[in-house]
Amino acid sequence: MDYFPLFCRLQGKRCLLVGGGDVAERKARLLLDAGADLHVGALDFSPVFQQWAEQGKLHLISGTFEECWLEGCWLVIAATDDDAVNQQVGDAAEARRIFCNLVDAPQEASAIMPSIVDRSPLMIAVSSGGRAPVLARLMREKLEAMLPQHLGQLASLAGSLRNRVKQTFASMGQRRAFWERFFASDRLAQTLANGDQPRADHIVDSLFDAPLSQQGEVVLVGAGPGDAGLLTLKGLQCIQQADVVVYDRLVSEPILNLVRRDAERIFVGKQAGHHCVPQSQINQLLLEQAQSGKRVVRLKGGDPFIFGRGGEELEILAQHNIPFSVVPGITAASGCAAYSGIPLTHRDHAQSVRFVTGHLQQQGEIEWQKLAAEQQTLVFYMGLNQAPEIQRQLLQHGMDAAMPVAIVQNGTTPDQRVETATLAELSSLAQQFASPALIIVGRVVSLRHQLRWF
Ligand code: SAH
Repeated sequence: MDYFPLFCRLQGKRCLLVGGGDVAERKARLLLDAGADLHVGALDFSPVFQQWAEQGKLHLISGTFEECWLEGCWLVIAATDDDAVNQQVGDAAEARRIFCNLVDAPQEASAIMPSIVDRSPLMIAVSSGGRAPVLARLMREKLEAMLPQHLGQLASLAGSLRNRVKQTFASMGQRRAFWERFFASDRLAQTLANGDQPRADHIVDSLFDAPLSQQGEVVLVGAGPGDAGLLTLKGLQCIQQADVVVYDRLVSEPILNLVRRDAERIFVGKQAGHHCVPQSQINQLLLEQAQSGKRVVRLKGGDPFIFGRGGEELEILAQHNIPFSVVPGITAASGCAAYSGIPLTHRDHAQSVRFVTGHLQQQGEIEWQKLAAEQQTLVFYMGLNQAPEIQRQLLQHGMDAAMPVAIVQNGTTPDQRVETATLAELSSLAQQFASPALIIVGRVVSLRHQLRWF
């Protein structure tokens, strides 16, 4: 984090703006909106500044910058068209430990001014740390378009209801449930926008009276194979609303960073040298958390219903009547195939694709004959240790020894590693890889040399 975001109260606090032209005018407007005790120093002032001064909104100081202007200031903005003067103001402020913003050289300043979306009291600030102001502006425009104008009114109303909510609802969970319904109420928002206060009061009363569900719930969310950009929008919304997130080893760090900061995170994966938390214990944990009224997200790598034991976790919840839902994720096969330029099907090479577990305890049940057939793609999950057996069986059942194979490790992440070889070389190739890795077998692998992009 290059800059620490902070909202500061400037009401009645002395601030200095150096510069009297158009750019300074824009900054002055913001500082006046924030109620600053504004002093503006410059050689010349635009007519707007003179008008503001006559209206008593700010004080003008005519002349070249002098350090004494900084006396008693909390914040300084240098907005002249002369870089040397701006720099001089910046240096003087720095020496006195006063935060200073330089309009044309934000990265040299101790403070930057973000692009803002103002729905006071709701305020959103967007910054690129001075590196890409146009991007920050585009983001701001998107947010402006997305956020209805009446949000400010809704936020003000929420402020006035806080005590009533505290008195009415004892637990944090109940309060949060109330607020979510409050902010999600289209009817209330529309009524406020129409300025119909009696009706708004009526809607608020009915929100207080409606029963709040005490019961928790569990959402099984697929986190995708690693790249946080591959999380679904719905998955993102779920993890941002969760009270508790139960996750395992395959869930990547960037995705965990999207979890709400005050949510509890429970790791149930296997760490080097330690054993997995037994499945029965995970099932029990989900049940207990939901029974205590929490919104639980069970976050799993890839898709929860593909080699994820998601079904088993839901069965116990169903038995106890805990509400649950499932948000699918991009499974490792899709993610790894896309990020390594290997289409899973292709008109010329493969008309079907099979996802196969490499955990071959139930070898008798694997139909090697079918797996060895032509014109399909095989994707082995958890197959590294069993690579020699996979190679042996496929060869034995008639697959061409020259059949292309690929191994993809840490697919879709910055550490992705992909190597290709032939079926005859699979077992020795596998020795150079570590989990998590996928084995892809099929003619489609040969397309990688043309289609790789990542
Ligand atoms: N539910 C998951 C699969 C869990 S089984 C999904 O749909 O993707 C665990 C196996 O998935 C690993 O052993 C590995 O074979 C594969 N896997 C998961 N993430 C992977 C990744 N980023 N790169 C390569 N393989 C991955």
